[in-house]
Amino acid sequence: MNLHVRDGVLQQTASEVPAGADVIDLRGHWITPGWFDLHVHLREPGKEVAETIASGCMAAMNGGFTGIACMPNTQPALDDAAIVNWVREQGNAFPVDVNVIAAITRGREGKELVEMSEIVETGVRGFSDDGGPVKSSAVLLHAVEYANMLGARIFEHAEDIYLAEGGSMNDGEWSTRLGVSGMPTIAEAIDVARCVLIAEYTGELFICHVSARESVELIRGAKKKGLRITGEVCPHHLLLTDEACNTFDTNFKMNPPLRGEADRKACWDAFLDGTLEVYCTDHAPHAWEDKTQEFDIAPFGIVGLETALSLALTHFLPNGMSLSTLLDRVVYSPREILSQSLPQIAEGQPANLTIIDPTHKHTVKPADFKSLSRNTPFGGWELTGRARGVIHRSMALVQTF
Ligand SMILES: [Zn+2]
Repeated sequence: MNLHVRDGVLQQTASEVPAGADVIDLRGHWITPGWFDLHVHLREPGKEVAETIASGCMAAMNGGFTGIACMPNTQPALDDAAIVNWVREQGNAFPVDVNVIAAITRGREGKELVEMSEIVETGVRGFSDDGGPVKSSAVLLHAVEYANMLGARIFEHAEDIYLAEGGSMNDGEWSTRLGVSGMPTIAEAIDVARCVLIAEYTGELFICHVSARESVELIRGAKKKGLRITGEVCPHHLLLTDEACNTFDTNFKMNPPLRGEADRKACWDAFLDGTLEVYCTDHAPHAWEDKTQEFDIAPFGIVGLETALSLALTHFLPNGMSLSTLLDRVVYSPREILSQSLPQIAEGQPANLTIIDPTHKHTVKPADFKSLSRNTPFGGWELTGRARGVIHRSMALVQTF
């Protein structure tokens, strides 16, 4: 069929090509509503050598995303309406909606709540002190009550910092063998338990980047009780385990860390059955000179925007996940969580599209990334299926490869 886009709006499907239209031949491709990454770290302001808002948008487009939500742990933190508006405006030059998840507390210091109502007025629907947890349960409880009252959600990076302190990888057989300090799964799960109790007491929370089997069981149990707990999972926690740290390659170091096989399997099952309803990358760019240090010194985090789609097509679809479920996890659920309108492929709707070549075989080459950073554990992986481009807000990127 022909898909006709005029002035950024989908027109009635025509068998004939309208005169004067630019024609892109996409035979053999899939066109889906635009993909959305709910958990991205842009490093601007503060660490523009690792990523800018512009380079992050280029990476998103290259990876097939038309929307991202960026986390507030920049320097300074995204903790007031003016800086939130400034970040979002930088995205206007690209076919990518840059949503901001604003800080919960001023400077992400965990003490004083930001001016939530002012920030919500700018369109923000998510708050997080991600990069770390909200240490004080009193602050977290008040944040949930206040955010929920304003129609927004709290995104918790679940971690008991005392249990995880000093750790560089998952606490388990591999950390013992390698002599690396470990972060136990229960460091995450104890905070998830706290969030479940707060949800039961007062409202609604979202759990970032779930990695541990105990966390999955807590979230599943909470959902069974009808509590409003939602959560996300990243490709690396679905595809890798802590054994990968045995080369001391710091591209396998992130927080939460790669876990054991039982955790990986639990996350996969939760992703399949919707206990974890969002697929996100936790895209965390780091400059080469920062990431290329000893394992225990290097910063946590890996880039993800330019591999997530290909990994999903190669590893999720052939392993029991349907395309419609995948799209639910990466198109619809993340936007629902942020109360954004859902893209539809229908006449009269804005053209918000991801174009996918489902058969394109390629080797992941970090040097080709549009991101300013290269810190991926998936370099050299052979993947099938790739984003050909995106169309959004009357802008299009369609690349040849
Ligand atoms: Zn985090």
